[in-house]
Formats: sequence, C-alpha cells, structure tokens
Amino acid sequence: MSLLSKAASGQRLTAAEAVELYHLPLFDLSSAAHAVRNLRTDPEIVTYLIDRNINYSNVCNVGCAFCGFYRTRRQDDSYTLSYEEISQKIRELEAVNGTRILMQGGVNPYLPFEWYLDLMRHLKEHHPTIRVEAFSPEEIKGMSKLTGMTPLEVLKELQAAGLDGLPGGGGEMLVDEVRKAKHVSPARISSDDWLRIMGEAQSLGLYTTATMVIGFGESFAQRVEHFQRVRDLQDKSLAAYGNAFSAFISWTLQTKGVRIDGKVPGAGAHEYLQNLAVSRIFLDKIPNYQASWPTMGHKIAQTALFFGANDYGSTMLEENVVSQAGAKHRNTPEREIIRQITDAGYKPMQRDSLYNVIAEPDVEAILANKPEVDFSTLNAFA
Ligand code: SF4
Repeated sequence: MSLLSKAASGQRLTAAEAVELYHLPLFDLSSAAHAVRNLRTDPEIVTYLIDRNINYSNVCNVGCAFCGFYRTRRQDDSYTLSYEEISQKIRELEAVNGTRILMQGGVNPYLPFEWYLDLMRHLKEHHPTIRVEAFSPEEIKGMSKLTGMTPLEVLKELQAAGLDGLPGGGGEMLVDEVRKAKHVSPARISSDDWLRIMGEAQSLGLYTTATMVIGFGESFAQRVEHFQRVRDLQDKSLAAYGNAFSAFISWTLQTKGVRIDGKVPGAGAHEYLQNLAVSRIFLDKIPNYQASWPTMGHKIAQTALFFGANDYGSTMLEENVVSQAGAKHRNTPEREIIRQITDAGYKPMQRDSLYNVIAEPDVEAILANKPEVDFSTLNAFA
C-alpha cells in the first residue's frame, strides 16, 4: 500500500512516514487529508463558534520576540481591565448569541491570585450562560510561581471558581531547541511544562485545545516532533481520563513590527496548508481542525476546508494578539462566516465550544439580508 493510500485510509502513521508526507505533491496530500476528515467528521458540514477573545491584561514579563501585544507595567499603553470592563465586553457577546469567551493575558506578576479567582466568580455570577475558557500553560505557570502552589493546585482552584477550559495558547513549536532559541523566546515555558500542565488540565476534565505555529525556521522533523508529543499526550489522556484535546489549531508566524522580524523565514500559504494536512493525518485522535482565517485570510481558510479542516473557528468579536504582529483579519461577522462556508460548498452550523452543533442558521434568509461586511476583514491574498 502506498503511503498516501495508508494515510487516506486513516491508519496511524509513524513519525518517519509523516516527514515523508511533506515531500509529496500538495494536492495529493490534500486528497488524503480530506479523506481522513470525511472519515472522522460529517463531510457535509463546517462548524463555527460565536465568541469573543478578551485580553484582560497586556502586562507580561516573558518578552517573546514574536509578540507585539505585551507591555511592561511602566509603558503608557499597558493595561489591566476591570471586572466591569470585562463584563461589558461579554454583554456585547451575549447580545449576538455568543456562547464562550477565550480570555488570555500576559504573565502579569502584579496581579494577585485572588484577582483571578474573584474574576472567575464574577463571570459565573453575572454571565452564567457563557463558558469561560481562559489562560494558557504559561499564565498557569506564572500563577504557580506567584503563589508557591503547584500548577495542578492552581488549576483546581480556578476550576472551583468557575474556569471551564484551558486554551492551547503558547504551544507554538513544542521543540525547545526552536521555542527557546535566543531570537525566539528564551524565557518561554518549556515544551515539557506546557504538555504537563495541559495533561493536568485534562485530568480535571477541563476543555483543552492544541496549537501550533510554523515559520521559525524549524525542520519538517521538528514539526513532526511537535505532532508526536501532542499525539502521545492525546493517547495518554484519553486512556486515563477520557478527556483530551478537542481541536488542533495551527497558523503561521506573524512578524510585522515585532523583534523577530527578519530573523526567521516565516511561512506562507502553501506551507500552512501542507502542515494542516499532515496534522490531520498524523494526529489521528484529535477530532476537530480549525481553519485559521485571522492569520491566513478567508480564501486560504476556505481552501483549508479541503486540507483537513472541518471548522471555521470563531467570529472573534475581538482579537488583540496576533493582529498586533501583523495578522490582517479581525472580527468577522457571523453572516460573513456563513457566506464563506457556504461559498466553499458546505453547510454552516453554529457550535458551542465543545463542538456540539447548537443551531442551524437560516442561510438563505441571512444571506438575503443586506451585508454588513467590514471589507477590511476579507481576502488577505487578494
Ligand atoms: S506571547 Fe504571551 S508570554 Fe510571550 S510576551 Fe506575549 S503575552 Fe507574554
């Protein structure tokens, strides 16, 4: 059996076979990844989420060279949102039938742990229908340092106060040689710690996702090493807790106006699609793959729906992190997401953050209405 037939049949591949996939013609790879997507998810539909990213504070002491978001406390434009400011953002989300916030910040050493716990309680009291998926392993590690508690203890307290999930921010490339290189993020959480904290979140039943960023100049073997580490944790957590990563989300490094610009090669649309296809084939126990319109634009995101992706991500009522490193796309209205999915030939379905379908939009009625399209969000590659 050829490698492509093996891949398309959904059989588990070795790391060496995954490296070989990168050398195959792009559209052969696309066929295999699409076949696997159709085996594992409903071939007719593409899901999307109505949510909002909230970045509670941009103060951070990690200083990643690819980050345009963080500030030191002394900088004029550093901020920490009040609970009321966060609530106001959530009310705007509730008004458009949103179901989840993805809330992350910098690693702010000036916020006491009680601030986070009180925030969780405040959100559950005032916004009981909104799922709170917040922080990242890096922030959990920061809270652990601050309090002297273990990351597991930190997670347990946050969960008891209302935390529903730990998103996969900061995964980037789970190969320390790449992630901790001097010109990348030497102070970044290690791959081992990132994976350990994710595994602990999974042991508590928290929702988690895995992420990946390409373009640091990593080799194909290093990309596959990232996949292998994610797959190993997925196997372990599924066997031990029946709870593991719900989705895999990858994108390309955004370098505009940040210190890493010019020091790494970055990655283009071809590499993004190729890597997405390999991830769909290799990570055989992760059910959902998002198309990344904020970084890649809607045309490539539509194309990604034929390279293994079965989900269009979220409306992202607000995004402040990758956009500050050059991602051109922020805030796509639900109507526009529905149009993109429909134009690609799929039936759009609204999901919750657990990937349960919760509503079938009336596509005809929605598309018949006059569009309120923000054209700045469209087509990065036009
Ligand atoms: S990526 Fe996160 S941890 Fe790194 S500097 Fe930015 S906010 Fe801080």
